[in-house]
Amino acid sequence: MSDDSSYLFYQSRNPRPFLDYGEGIYLFDEAGNRYIDGSSGAMVSNIGHSNPRVLAKIKAQMDKATFGYRLHFRTHPSEDLAAKTVAMTPDGLDRVFFVSGGSEAVESAVKLARQFALTQGQDARHKVISRFPSYHGCTFGALDLTGYDPLREPFAPMMEGMPKVAAPATYLDRDNLSEEARGIKYADLLRDKILAEGPETVLAFIMEPVGGASTGALVAPDSYYGRIREICDEFGVLLIYDEVMTGAGRTGKFLAAEHWGITPDIVAMSKGFGAGYAPLGAIVAGARLVEPVLDAGGFLHGFTYAGNPLACSAGLAVLEEMDDQGMIENAARMGEVLMVQLRALMDRYPFIGDVRGKGLLTAFEFVSDRETMEPLPPELDAHARLVELAYERGLIIYSRRTRGGMTGDHFLIAPPLIITEQQIDELMVILRDALDAFAQDAGL
Ligand code: PLP
Repeated sequence: MSDDSSYLFYQSRNPRPFLDYGEGIYLFDEAGNRYIDGSSGAMVSNIGHSNPRVLAKIKAQMDKATFGYRLHFRTHPSEDLAAKTVAMTPDGLDRVFFVSGGSEAVESAVKLARQFALTQGQDARHKVISRFPSYHGCTFGALDLTGYDPLREPFAPMMEGMPKVAAPATYLDRDNLSEEARGIKYADLLRDKILAEGPETVLAFIMEPVGGASTGALVAPDSYYGRIREICDEFGVLLIYDEVMTGAGRTGKFLAAEHWGITPDIVAMSKGFGAGYAPLGAIVAGARLVEPVLDAGGFLHGFTYAGNPLACSAGLAVLEEMDDQGMIENAARMGEVLMVQLRALMDRYPFIGDVRGKGLLTAFEFVSDRETMEPLPPELDAHARLVELAYERGLIIYSRRTRGGMTGDHFLIAPPLIITEQQIDELMVILRDALDAFAQDAGL
């Protein structure tokens, strides 16, 4: 179908209604329909829509200067946002570099890692091991790390082909191991891979501490996280946490890494960091990595819009609001409330095979059989169908059918961190209604 009313394209043509305005956890279209933003867009709008205090701070900066190139001026918004970011992250992460999005953050993390290795005389280290499935972005460097074949394969000849290890999808395992032993089993896949590749060639390992769209909020057993850190330390491999989705409070801590007491070498953030008020992202790393790079002539990397005062004023206002309103604590509390309600869905819908997540990054997954965890048949197009049924009823959720035989249709429920218990009830009423309609249509 062609639509001559629009000159714009994204991945595909866009049949959605025009957005009018946002308010808290709600979005309104131009016809006056109200939607609960149950996925914060693409897990972006952490502080909710149209927060008046944040808007006032951004407007105040707008009135002063919207742009000042970083080679010409230091700016207070960028310096203050860097300081605030360091204050909110665990000790040992005390240098910040700004970007405008998640893919840029991942690219920047990898390039910083490489330049640090060069300062150490480790020129052979260039491989970055990642997980399958995973999502790290769509630019070439980030895409090479992404474990998602449909996005990667068309461009594969144009990339090096970075090594992958299986993500710890332990809920699909039918071995007799304890959760702890399973965590170690999956972490040790990294050790095997480093040895197979040649430790002297391995620069870094990158992982999403809680999976995003690729795995549907996959959380590893606790033992996984510490073991991965140990393995990286054993071989001098840098540990990069891709917290583009999990950072900025989404999981009930500022960084998901804090749940396991892990300090990664580099953290990539975006999405909730600008929370939809500005295109913004950051990498945070230890001075231990950054200072040698600066001493050796500087970081050979940077984007024109990096650290611009307008985006940084938005980021600063977002983090201040998050802090002042106790939103991260609310995310932890409401995450528990939401999880109880999502788990209860399993009593009602036999085709929900797993419910998982951390804080307000939660997901459920469809299966045709809970014993075998076989996915629903692709012809049902369940991931798209349920999203439509929810949308028609005024609820936005986010879905994927992950491939590679790892998972089937999964759905992310990740509302703004300001959601209340009553609003969770409201969300669940619509979700159950959409699930009933799906079950009826699909004959399940
Ligand atoms: N990394 C993770 C974990 C993500 O979830 C995403 C986006 O979904 C990205 C990187 C890429 O971010 P962006 O789309 O802002 O480039």
